[in-house]
Amino acid sequence: MIVEQVWTGNAYRNFNYLIACPDTGDALAIDPLDYKKCLAVADAKGWTITQVLNTHEHGDHTGGNKGVAKATGAKIIAHRNAKDRIPNIDRGVEAGDIVKVGKTVELECLDTPGHTLCHICLLSRTDQPGLFSGDTLFNAGAGNCHNGGHPVELFKTFETQLQNLGDDTLIYPGHDYLLNNLAFTLDREPDNAIARKMMSDYENQDPSDALVTSMAQEREINTFFRLQNPTVVETLTREFPEMGDSPDARAVFLKLRELRNSW
Ligand SMILES: [Zn+2]
Ligand SMILES: [Zn+2]
Repeated sequence: MIVEQVWTGNAYRNFNYLIACPDTGDALAIDPLDYKKCLAVADAKGWTITQVLNTHEHGDHTGGNKGVAKATGAKIIAHRNAKDRIPNIDRGVEAGDIVKVGKTVELECLDTPGHTLCHICLLSRTDQPGLFSGDTLFNAGAGNCHNGGHPVELFKTFETQLQNLGDDTLIYPGHDYLLNNLAFTLDREPDNAIARKMMSDYENQDPSDALVTSMAQEREINTFFRLQNPTVVETLTREFPEMGDSPDARAVFLKLRELRNSW
């Protein structure tokens, strides 16, 4: 599997992806908003985009579908429940479905509601797994829920699916929000030395050559995976004493998500 992260350089800081089969040159485009750039990259690499997958229905993820389909005839794949929200879906997928790219690449569909209620993450079946996480999981952060999502669903997705991914899983999110998210982590957990070091190491990073984190790193720097960390809990309960001394993971997650909305 070859992964090409395409930085769009737009105000929303979107990452688009091309995933190619090294044997056939067939490629899957994930959320190819900047379709011209995606087509140009595929062209330069000698790849043919045969499929497009939308992680979810928001316009900054689906806006390039038409352009890619027109240029390549690529089939459009999205969550089966997104059929009324995304035009011209050729294949609706659900949890456990496999998206095959060329001969060698297989990606498993995870049904990951929260950011919206028809959100798909793709998990590669490779020696080192990769998660294409759309707007569900960001580097050091979690997606918001205010455009058709639900925070309780997002918590369940983190708790029952993302949390269980192997430490070596690489994270490929739909946006570059690394620095803002690290700042939120440090606001909640000022003694997080790993987040602080990452902040200083990457504060001037070029998003077209962005850091790709692993799940092991996310467990260290992403507050939404650190729900029982003593500092996270203490900072929160000092500010919101009504939560009691030992709030459960769900209560912590929901409060963090709420705080992040206005942070
Ligand atoms: Zn979105
Ligand atoms: Zn987005």
